[in-house]
Amino acid sequence: MNQSNKNILCDLQKYHSDFIKFLNDMYNLKNESDPCIKEILKNLCITLGISKIEVYFYENVSCELSSNGNYMCLYSIPQCNDNDDFIQYRYVTENDNVAIYKVYSIQNAQWTDFHKNEINTIINTIFSYHGRIRVMRIAKQYMFEDVEFGIYNIRYFMKFVGQKIAQNQIKDYISSVYNIKRMTIINESIGRDKSTQIMIQHAKTLENIIGKDGCVCRLGGDNFVILFKRELLDDIRKYFKGHTFIYDETNNESITISVTAGFNVIANMPEVHNPSEVMEGAYVSANLAKRSSNTDEIFWSNSVMLKQLSLKRIENIFPSALLNEEFKVYYQPKISIKTDYKLTGAEALCRWFHDDSMVYPNEFIPVLEQSSNICKLDFYILEHVCMDIRRWLDEGKNVVKISVNFSRKHLTDRCLLDNIVKIIDKHNVPHEYIEIELTETTTDVDFKDLKYIVNGLHEFNISTSVDDFGIGYSSLNLIRDIPWDVLKIDKSFLPELHDIDNTAAKKNIMLKYVLSMAHELGLECIVEGVETEEHIKLLKDNGCYLAQGYYFDRPLPCDIFERKL
Ligand code: C2E
Ligand code: CA
Ligand code: CA
Repeated sequence: MNQSNKNILCDLQKYHSDFIKFLNDMYNLKNESDPCIKEILKNLCITLGISKIEVYFYENVSCELSSNGNYMCLYSIPQCNDNDDFIQYRYVTENDNVAIYKVYSIQNAQWTDFHKNEINTIINTIFSYHGRIRVMRIAKQYMFEDVEFGIYNIRYFMKFVGQKIAQNQIKDYISSVYNIKRMTIINESIGRDKSTQIMIQHAKTLENIIGKDGCVCRLGGDNFVILFKRELLDDIRKYFKGHTFIYDETNNESITISVTAGFNVIANMPEVHNPSEVMEGAYVSANLAKRSSNTDEIFWSNSVMLKQLSLKRIENIFPSALLNEEFKVYYQPKISIKTDYKLTGAEALCRWFHDDSMVYPNEFIPVLEQSSNICKLDFYILEHVCMDIRRWLDEGKNVVKISVNFSRKHLTDRCLLDNIVKIIDKHNVPHEYIEIELTETTTDVDFKDLKYIVNGLHEFNISTSVDDFGIGYSSLNLIRDIPWDVLKIDKSFLPELHDIDNTAAKKNIMLKYVLSMAHELGLECIVEGVETEEHIKLLKDNGCYLAQGYYFDRPLPCDIFERKL
């Protein structure tokens, strides 16, 4: 009987107790590098005459064939020799992963069947341990990581915030939800892959700014949620305003990324009980910021909360309000001021009668514009305008052209043109009685859609006007490249009583040049918001003979307006 056999026989009891402990630790997934587990494995190896255990992991069989995998040495004695005898165990999992364990024997070990059986059991145990560790690691990765981006996800955010609440430290933090601006355009201009890379770079740079004591997590798409220490607020706001990334080294092409964000300063919250409350305020503020036309960042506060509540309320009651015909069309006359102040047209403006009071568009149009509800309202108004015109015509009235406002939200609707024409034709209204008012656009993409719609309407002999010209993002391309019929010049070009310094003089100059440019381009012009005798004089002096405003009439209910026809 050789030496190692003798060892086992002598120490069988100790061997078994070690072995049970080993099984237990592996079963409970105790950390492999734990000194206890190392010690036990060492004891077992000494008893069985093992000089080295090594393992190779491969993603799949082809990786195995090309020797492209990971190596790990589980146990080894200094005297071990690569030429020693070894037994090899090869496992292929259901997912095609391959694990190869090599168990080397000390010289002259001469393993018996008993040894080999024991070694077999130990290696099987280690293999199942490795398998479970791997599954756990993957599960954890899927659980807390956005796999596409390699950064954390919302579950991690909730976990992290939960810990900070439990440690009573959450009041030191600010949460923020943000959305990358113009992502659709970025995608279109540099391609999806590069855009994704830029988004990842953006998030990783932010991770560096925030450091270990906070987190950056992806919510999905180009939306992210972060938690950071209060003292970092200024740095983060600066980063959000614009940071440039190079996406093509060779051609030195770069792009500046800016975001719209909602912030929730947690110290301002009365009490925080669960992680979703930390997210909620930032999320709601971010939504408002995204939709706002004048700011890119909104901090959560009571007034933001009230705004959100009224927003929700309007969204909730809108469908039934539409069904109950609570929306009424008012008509504001458009007047020719050349000689006899004749009625030449009117603009249809919406009023909402709800709970015995009248609601003005400024209170609900911006809310409806945040969803496609605005489109339903616009078609509803067009339909009612057509019904009115048809009735007026049938009653033999002198009908004038009525303009109807169409929100920018419609622009992506490929059926917009068809739907407008369908409604007008359904009511048998000659096309020359309808004008569609559209506002200016901010982006190139919108510009194409706008051009498509206006051209289409033009072909159907339905006229179009640029609403609110002069405020927002007027671009001269807008009037050069699109065949509008009318330019509606915004009231901001008209001098007001409270204008200070030389503002009124500047407005006069601007009005003069806008009007002369429009006339030279062959566009008809109308000025909105005409309120005084001076305004009228100003228009006449500059050769503009169409006006709309309180000087003549406010928007009028249908029955009063139609008496003027
Ligand atoms: P808008 O298209 O620029 O309409 C002109 C607004 O200016 C109207 O406000 C009108 O009442 C007001 N206004 C007219 N004359 C004067 C004046 O002399 N002085 C002043 N200070 N204001 C004057 P309103 O009716 O409250 O409508 C506000 C906005 O709501 C409209 O601005 C339009 O953008 C939107 N809106 C109204 N009805 C509809 C609709 O059916 N669909 C869509 N998409 N938007 C609508
Ligand atoms: Ca308008
Ligand atoms: Ca307007």
